[in-house]
Amino acid sequence: MDLYEFQARQLFADHGVPVTDGEVCSTPEQARVAAERIGGMVVVKAQVKTGGRGKAGGVKLANTPDEAEARARDILGMDIKGHTVHRVLVVAATDIADEYYVSFLLDRANRTYLSMASVAGGMEIEEVAVTQPEKLAKIRVDALEGCTPAKAAEIVATAQFPAEVADAVAAILVDLWQVLVKEDATLVEVNPLVKSVDGRVIALDGKVTLDDNASYRHPSHEELVDRAAADPLELRAQELNLNYVKLEGEVGIIGNGAGLVMSTLDVVAYAGEEFDGVRPANFLDIGGGASATVMSNGLDIVLGDPDVKAVFVNVFGGITTCDSVANGIVQAINLLADRGEPVTKPIVCRIDGNNAVEGRRILKDFGHALIEVVDTMDDAARRAAQLAAGK
Ligand code: GDP
Ligand code: MN
Repeated sequence: MDLYEFQARQLFADHGVPVTDGEVCSTPEQARVAAERIGGMVVVKAQVKTGGRGKAGGVKLANTPDEAEARARDILGMDIKGHTVHRVLVVAATDIADEYYVSFLLDRANRTYLSMASVAGGMEIEEVAVTQPEKLAKIRVDALEGCTPAKAAEIVATAQFPAEVADAVAAILVDLWQVLVKEDATLVEVNPLVKSVDGRVIALDGKVTLDDNASYRHPSHEELVDRAAADPLELRAQELNLNYVKLEGEVGIIGNGAGLVMSTLDVVAYAGEEFDGVRPANFLDIGGGASATVMSNGLDIVLGDPDVKAVFVNVFGGITTCDSVANGIVQAINLLADRGEPVTKPIVCRIDGNNAVEGRRILKDFGHALIEVVDTMDDAARRAAQLAAGK
């Protein structure tokens, strides 16, 4: 999960990385009040999860609370690279003498962590990497040793930070590493890290990507989730502990096992070419031991997607046998009917593997008008695509 700048700054502050005073606001009036409280010159900054806000006109200086309100009015509602601005951050302005870049990230290709640092900060680091690669230092950081003061000194020396800021930058690197480790992030980036005219070193912008696999260790990260921006079906699926990703198509997909579900998406997309180009509407892996409850939660989510015209349940029975999966489907459909949400869309089931014959018999005996059992994956995909296209 990528964080907003105001959230990243909060994590920075929690771990001792110096940031400026600021407040997140969702109306121009709030921006005025924040500017009044902060006092002096402020910067009004669009909060969107994309870089290059400055270039896009989403970062503006304001001399007075009146100006802060006006700038917030300009920026709120703005579209920056397809992201609508719903909030601005109002921060005390810094008189900048110099702009630098520092980051830590997980370097998957090299199976290590990497620190990148440059005295050419402020501009986009991808640009520095291309135009002045000699100005971007890349230093490996061992996961177990971490960024010790000695490692921080090495980074600062390699990137050739000026002597007067070397110690301050090194101290910030040590704290920034703590943000990465303690918060379970895969990226922490500061661009720009600045030297102010009065000689302080401060993080003026922040980018943090948290490792969602570690979210169970961080109950406090729950509040960082942007519920307003997330897809409502994905949010509900998350609450139900389902592995669901919304896609743009018409054939709802439910399968067990990530690999099977991914190949199901391919087969459905291929079959759909024949039927008006219908496509898979989602990824949903209900996992190995899919109980009736999990199946009904899955059906509930997939059928709740207004784009879905037909559902393809593709299950390979293993440890959980096909007869228990079939019973799960039957119970799920009864459960939905009991809840007053009877199934109204066709469901094509392909169940194969352990106890397949018994599983298919259970579904056929159930005799629901909207359920079709098809023996092979290809034929089932084709039938689901055909039904979704209304043919
Ligand atoms: P980004 O464009 O999305 O990376 O947003 P940043 O937060 O990095 O801001 C873009 C640029 O605005 C920075 O590189 C600075 O040049 C400028 N800027 C941001 N904060 C301040 C500030 O407090 N004072 C001054 N003078 N400029 C700032
Ligand atoms: Mn920036």
